[in-house]
Amino acid sequence: MLSKKELPTSTQYKYPRKIRGRFAPTPSGNLHFGSLVCALASYLDVKSAGGIWIIRIDDLDTPRVKNGASEQIIETLDHYNLISDEPIYYQSDHLATYREFLNDLIAKNLTYECECTRKRIRAIGGIYDNKCRNRKIKNGRTSLRLKINGQNEVDTFSDGIYGLQQKKSDSDSRDFIISRKDGIPSYEYSVVIDDYIQEISHVLRGKDLIFSTFNQLILQKSLDINAPEYAHIPLVMNPQKRKLSKSDGALLDKKNFSLNLYLALNLLGQNPIEELKSAKVPEIIDSAIMNWKRDNVPNVFNKHVTEFLPKTH
Ligand SMILES: [Zn+2]
Repeated sequence: MLSKKELPTSTQYKYPRKIRGRFAPTPSGNLHFGSLVCALASYLDVKSAGGIWIIRIDDLDTPRVKNGASEQIIETLDHYNLISDEPIYYQSDHLATYREFLNDLIAKNLTYECECTRKRIRAIGGIYDNKCRNRKIKNGRTSLRLKINGQNEVDTFSDGIYGLQQKKSDSDSRDFIISRKDGIPSYEYSVVIDDYIQEISHVLRGKDLIFSTFNQLILQKSLDINAPEYAHIPLVMNPQKRKLSKSDGALLDKKNFSLNLYLALNLLGQNPIEELKSAKVPEIIDSAIMNWKRDNVPNVFNKHVTEFLPKTH
């Protein structure tokens, strides 16, 4: 494992950086169609630029991790020829690294302990009010928040698909949790460290994480580390017009990998030719890499998967 001292600082990078992307599923169940679309889009985006694609298993949130799910996800991705170019990275192997970077933030006086419960935050309308910022709590069993100040604030960024993103109000900038009460690094914090130590240059993921990007950029600024480029793709909806979830897993045809790939490419606006429906997986992937056009990805997926699937499903 790389220690922080061996890693380049933001001033050491020589542009252009290598293109490196990743897909980072949480092993809470098997891959569903929405995750397949995300994995495929990030794969095509880096492969069409001759880059490296890595699978990262987001297994820190242990209460959500399901036994055997990561193996199942990796195997499913394998069926689609979506294979990691480097050894698969498990977040749970990197706890010491998260701690090391956390100490950096603590030393910079950018963190504080917060004892607010979810219940309290719900009661005040769901938006944290920075209550504990000046309370100097020291009991070690609290969550840790990052202070947003004039130096580390980020209120705009350019998304590779949705364009300029801007915070809308003051309530969009509230001190956020980087380490949970149970000691588990927060999603936003761990993903920033991972992207940095894996030298990820391009993040392409689902739109449900677009707002979280602000906090990730704030963390990168606080740590004085490079930020990757971010692009988000629309979410695949189920017939009830809600984000597809693991329980909608049945929407993936379990045997017909070619059809699933064809459907995913179709949703992504890549206009795959009809013949690809019955082509072999490697052939579909090769053709998709060659023809990938990020600009064709729509802002919303108007269709949902069931519209495409054969009537027997
Ligand atoms: Zn608090």
